[in-house]
Amino acid sequence: MPDIALWNKCNNKCVMCTNMDEFARQDGEQYGLKCQIEKLERYLKGLSPVYLKNADKADFISLTGGEPTLHPEFFKAVAYFRRRLPAVPITLLSNGRTFANTAFTEKFAAVAAPPFSVAIALHGPTAAAHDPVAGVRGSFAQTVKGLRNLFALRRGQQVEIRLVLHKKSIARLRDTLRFLLETFPDTSAYRVVAIHYEIEGMSELNHKSVGLKYSVSARKVGAALPLIRRFADFRLYHFPRCQVRPELRPLCRVTLPAEDRVYPAACRGCRLRRGCLGLMLEYYRKFGDAELKPVRA
Ligand code: SF4
Repeated sequence: MPDIALWNKCNNKCVMCTNMDEFARQDGEQYGLKCQIEKLERYLKGLSPVYLKNADKADFISLTGGEPTLHPEFFKAVAYFRRRLPAVPITLLSNGRTFANTAFTEKFAAVAAPPFSVAIALHGPTAAAHDPVAGVRGSFAQTVKGLRNLFALRRGQQVEIRLVLHKKSIARLRDTLRFLLETFPDTSAYRVVAIHYEIEGMSELNHKSVGLKYSVSARKVGAALPLIRRFADFRLYHFPRCQVRPELRPLCRVTLPAEDRVYPAACRGCRLRRGCLGLMLEYYRKFGDAELKPVRA
């Protein structure tokens, strides 16, 4: 199932957001419940193209934004998607702030019947680190409270904490992991995903301040290995396997569609290629492929 932009407005202004400002300025009506229902019904009848990303994937659905929890008819929308796709795993991508409202989280837990996951982005271990990335003072406190509420009130929903790695977040990676281990010590209760940022939307516009090469991020991720080992479920998205330490390669997942990735000539004959992302296309355009280290038998 595809990525579905549930709502185009957001209450954060993240420096590495993959949307452009214009997206939020679009008329919200086209993301209203009526339009969402029309789109999904057309998609289910095979009347594509309806969705742009991952439209060929049949086994999951991602509700994205903007910030989907700000949708004016959020609960009705979630209930509709759940009813029409009863067995399909749904992941809601959120900045987590709305879940700081306990009544909201209680209602969400009742409506979002499993299989349902909430993936929440955390940008650092403190307000001083997180808030400038999110672009909103006070967002760290709300996101952390949102996570606490979800852990306390969920009814079978899974929680994923996403750490997007870019120039403004990478230096605090180990501190962020320590923060998670101290604040949410039962690591079997959630999954952590470290994601090398995508060069798209605002992250492309802000590339001077957020741009980060794999050689830097993979070194920092490698240095965090003793901490990473303490989490029950830790994954790496958007990393070529040759960039990370061998111990971390089993954690790499390919989650981007084929059209967003490339295997340059260096990948030919590499024995790590099976299950490897290759390079993100925009990364390849921006930085080239000189960092690749193919492993040949
Ligand atoms: S050289 Fe290419 S195929 Fe091999 S690990 Fe690196 S990116 Fe993957």
